[in-house]
Amino acid sequence: MFQNLLLMGVFVCIGTTAYSQKDIPTSYFDLPLKIPIELSGTFGELRNNHFHSGLDIKTLQKEGIPVYAPADGHVSRIKVSHFGYGKALYIQHPNGYSTVYAHLREYAGAIQDFVKKIQYQRESYEVEMFPEADFLPVKKGDLIGFTGNTGGSGGPHLHYEIRDAHARPMNPLLFGIDVADTRLPVVKSVFVYPISDDAQVNQNANPMRLKLIPQSDGMLLAEKIQASGKLGFAVSAFDRQNAGHNQNGIYSVKTSFNGEKVFEVKMDKFTFAETRYINRFIDYKEFKNSKDRHKKLFLEENNPLSVITSHHQRGYVEIEDGFDSIYTIEVFDFKGNRTLISVPIEGKKQSIVNHKELVTSPFYVNAQEGTSIRAGKFVIYIPPKAVYEDAYLNINSQNNELTFHHDEIPIHYNVTITADISNYEEADLDKVYIARLSEWGRPYYVNSTRKGDKLSINTRTFGNYKLMADVTPPEIVPLNFSNGRWISNNKTLEIKIEDKDSGIKGYRATLNGKWILMEYEYKKNLLTFDFADDINEGTEYNLKLIVTDNVGNSSIFEATFYRK
Ligand SMILES: [Zn+2]
Repeated sequence: MFQNLLLMGVFVCIGTTAYSQKDIPTSYFDLPLKIPIELSGTFGELRNNHFHSGLDIKTLQKEGIPVYAPADGHVSRIKVSHFGYGKALYIQHPNGYSTVYAHLREYAGAIQDFVKKIQYQRESYEVEMFPEADFLPVKKGDLIGFTGNTGGSGGPHLHYEIRDAHARPMNPLLFGIDVADTRLPVVKSVFVYPISDDAQVNQNANPMRLKLIPQSDGMLLAEKIQASGKLGFAVSAFDRQNAGHNQNGIYSVKTSFNGEKVFEVKMDKFTFAETRYINRFIDYKEFKNSKDRHKKLFLEENNPLSVITSHHQRGYVEIEDGFDSIYTIEVFDFKGNRTLISVPIEGKKQSIVNHKELVTSPFYVNAQEGTSIRAGKFVIYIPPKAVYEDAYLNINSQNNELTFHHDEIPIHYNVTITADISNYEEADLDKVYIARLSEWGRPYYVNSTRKGDKLSINTRTFGNYKLMADVTPPEIVPLNFSNGRWISNNKTLEIKIEDKDSGIKGYRATLNGKWILMEYEYKKNLLTFDFADDINEGTEYNLKLIVTDNVGNSSIFEATFYRK
């Protein structure tokens, strides 16, 4: 019996560690593009509030590169949205994996016809469909769309994902995509953190940037530190492939202490449910200060990230008085190129000169319990586990403004801020909203809901908030036509729409009373209608466009033009 249990233990261990690599098909998926692959983003790259869930493939700085199905399958989901993935396409493959294509300019063939049909049926640019398996089948090599820059994309590229049967994004490079890379990962900086109360590094109890000395072989040697107690480390690094200058994410980091492995993080796959824990994984405060993301090479409480594939004593190291040790960090790209950082540590117990600074305040939040806080006309509700660790918050309010701490502590779950707006005139109540103020004081509308004279928002960002009123309707300016003119040569109608206060909420356009599809590109404040959709007959066209802002102010634009 004992022996059986032991065997089982061994079996389970092998089963969970050596699970996958050999099960991943490496020649099943062709490349979705027929241009040389250059990456502007890698899998697991550290982004705002998420790990990057695919590859960003460069598209020769332009839109319209044909995208081909990398394997047989069927279109399982189509989503068109103003933000996020823009025009996105999902293909389910018979081997259980699915592939995702985002920021497309348009779909191809039967897919494009279907999307247009549904958009006209639902009278909406934003649509989402889940076609049945036999409705839009694709064969390997079929044209499925054209690359673009739609949604939250900062330049033309294809965002390409491969997801497993449980909808977990996986590193597409595991599937045999070959991207030449002989360049070493570049380490930008390394921090050391004294963790235990008695811990110090060079008599300092605060996080410290290590001085790194480049070696002739590309490796890095840290200036020797004198330390004692429990320490943790963090590293910021990027990788460049042979083609392209983009600073992409690295693949994995391994640490060891006197030759024993301590910690490993590896970007093979993760779940969308865990992706926001990136804010727990990086040194968030340092990121907000320097815009540079350091991966913490230790595992704190409330960090369930599965990309942390192994750790010994949570990745911390214990420095004993009188013992010298070596801590190493190895940074890898997907091709196995490695940059090694060696940190010599002299174990030396000494008094702390620079103590940890603890700023207290009357507003304490216990991470497990949450709390409610009143400040002026604002009430803040912080639910349990909204923050990862207990904290003192700096909160105060003057008139219509609320200081809700500073954006140096991450928030995981929504916090609710409710404002009493009973001092506003009845007629203005509908025009009031809560804005988040940027670092520079610029207001950004936050989706505000009103119940009587109470206005609420949900937010996951500390910082300054302000009650604002928007009484100005959106602006509408035609760009390539004007009232009363002939525009037979126009392929499109282009109209600029803008709302400087609360922002654009929606729009609706008709030609001779019939709804028309206008595509909204928020990055350019641009609405575009394609005359190829034209469903009208005759030469006189009456356009009517209504644009509404986030508090309900609307503008109506009407024009008549002629075509034949
Ligand atoms: Zn992407």
